[in-house]
Amino acid sequence: MENHLRTLLDDIKNGHRLSESEALDLFRIRNRHVWEIAKSADEVREQRVGNAVTYVRNQNINVTNICINSCGFCGFSKKPGDDSIYYHNKSAIQKKAALAKIREVSEICTVSGLHPDFNAQYYCDVYRWILEAVPGIHLHASNPMEVAYAAKKSQLSTYEVLVAMKKAGLGSMCGTAAEILVDSVRKKICPQKITTDEWVRIIREAHALGIPTTATIMYGHCESDEDRARHLSILREIQDETHGFTEFVPLSFIHMNTPLYRSGIARSGATGREDLLMVAVARLFLDNFKNIQVSWVKEGIKMAQLSLIAGANDLGGTMFEESISKGAGATNTDYLDPAEMQRVADDVGRPLRRRTTLYELF
Ligand code: SF4
Repeated sequence: MENHLRTLLDDIKNGHRLSESEALDLFRIRNRHVWEIAKSADEVREQRVGNAVTYVRNQNINVTNICINSCGFCGFSKKPGDDSIYYHNKSAIQKKAALAKIREVSEICTVSGLHPDFNAQYYCDVYRWILEAVPGIHLHASNPMEVAYAAKKSQLSTYEVLVAMKKAGLGSMCGTAAEILVDSVRKKICPQKITTDEWVRIIREAHALGIPTTATIMYGHCESDEDRARHLSILREIQDETHGFTEFVPLSFIHMNTPLYRSGIARSGATGREDLLMVAVARLFLDNFKNIQVSWVKEGIKMAQLSLIAGANDLGGTMFEESISKGAGATNTDYLDPAEMQRVADDVGRPLRRRTTLYELF
């Protein structure tokens, strides 16, 4: 394996495109060779995007935590009648948006529970309300599941919903709800969610309409290494065709308050080795992605920093008001001060640069 690994890593540097089975071999490495993979990924990162560690000033507005679905990994959603449900109306949403202005954020994200009363018109209204309060802000909102839900509720096609959302001001779409793009896993962790084919179709539709999206994976629960390699393969294939993904964001499973963990179906999240390899293998495999983001919300700032020397180039957002990972049991998810990002970037000898959602530098 040792020689095979060295040859493979050299080949990648010379332009070899990793196959899915080679990515699988890399995910299976368990010993000190993890560092060699990380080192190669770091070199590829430097070649492809340079040394800057980027971040965006952003804020979440989670409109409601009421959701008709019951995904097993979700500690955020509530049912009508549960304790601590919330729903923000127009005036509350606009107050939050106004706060974003004071905080000088350039991006507002809205992803919420699938409220029984929401439809396509409602999602578009939310976008308009936000833009009314903060004209010119970039709206990074929705995801393929919300688009499918809005389409169903309004008896429209998903394409028509995306057209309406774009008209209402959607700047880019979240590539969440991808979880693991393997239906046998989706059936276990989120049986009410859209299928792999639907997720892929909606993402392709968004890209065709000029709506860029992120690409995500949620790993560390009950998926196999094969499932992870398959997932990356699907993302790379879409990107070859559309070039519509702005970045890849690995999301490490936060297990504590989730039904999936409590029922024994999922393990207690990814290990440090797995977190590091997810970033490094993604950097090596996704040769058509410029940006690999590490989520400090999911991994904590220390693991996020290590990921910056294992293939990642972006620290994500300042966040302000994170509630999805917090609901699942993560702590300290509300806000990361750029001063702390600066300390972390300085410590690995790299410059920190603020960016827009679409990776233009300030
Ligand atoms: S992950 Fe999203 S769709 Fe699933 S239960 Fe949670 S809020 Fe609802």
